[in-house]
Amino acid sequence: MPYVPVSPGFRPELLRSAEQRWRIILDTRPDLAPALDLQRRLLLLVLDLAEVLDRGKMPRLSLPPKYLAAKLTRGVPAIAGEPIPLPVPILTPPLLQMCDALAAGGAGEAAMHLREALAGGAIEPGSLLTASLSRDQNVIRAGAVHRGLSPDLLWLVGELAVSPFVHLLQRTLFGQPAGDLASALARWNRGHCPACGSWPAVAEVVGGHRTLRCSFCSSAWEPTMYSCIYCEESGEKFVTAAPNEERKDRRLEVCANCSGYLKTVDLPELSPFPLLSISDIETTDLDMAAMEHGYGRPAMKDLKGLRAKG
Ligand SMILES: [Zn+2]
Ligand SMILES: [Zn+2]
Repeated sequence: MPYVPVSPGFRPELLRSAEQRWRIILDTRPDLAPALDLQRRLLLLVLDLAEVLDRGKMPRLSLPPKYLAAKLTRGVPAIAGEPIPLPVPILTPPLLQMCDALAAGGAGEAAMHLREALAGGAIEPGSLLTASLSRDQNVIRAGAVHRGLSPDLLWLVGELAVSPFVHLLQRTLFGQPAGDLASALARWNRGHCPACGSWPAVAEVVGGHRTLRCSFCSSAWEPTMYSCIYCEESGEKFVTAAPNEERKDRRLEVCANCSGYLKTVDLPELSPFPLLSISDIETTDLDMAAMEHGYGRPAMKDLKGLRAKG
């Protein structure tokens, strides 16, 4: 079944598992200590926010399963183009705290400027969060550049603050799919996320199942075809290799057709939300290896173009 529900862990269990994974990373990469400290602070903020959202009520959405199934069949992610109301007052304080954490954790003044812009209303938190949910890289980039702020940092904080909401949203929509929606999800064979349209952060391979993990909402899905997730190249231009001979459990899929790469990592189980960021950070050497060879990760899929085509 290509769409794989990932059960949420409980806080103590999640934190135990996170600490264990961080310790293993630190053993081999002591230089990553500051990055891991920052990741811990951000992860705790995300987790606190997820708990608040879990206790609250999801907005009422008129997205019937039949309608979503029809969208997925056209290759359009479930929430693309839907006007989904965000709980802005709940998301804003953690958004500012994430800026603080980034400022203390190495992003310094750039993050402080961002915080001032968000707290002072130069950037409306609600607009940022909405643009992030609709994955509108152009709007966020333009907004940052216009105000002399870091586009990457603005994208990052928006994404972090919305991630628990969008994760809950995909669980609400896809958690127990039945009928048409279940079969549309089972046929979802694309590289972008069926819920939000983002590219995966990594592929987590559990028991031989190559499961793509959304970098934004943490959805998990398993394409049935073995090909480049970005351009579907499956010929000899698409290669999987382990850059480190001694770590065959961590590989790169690279594609000479579109120059894209995807990290894949063998794990005993899929990372529960929000621990996927740990899979990402524990494989940063793979990113380096891919980029050294001229591979990159493409920009966001053009979701507006997809909808127009549909
Ligand atoms: Zn997603
Ligand atoms: Zn490709």
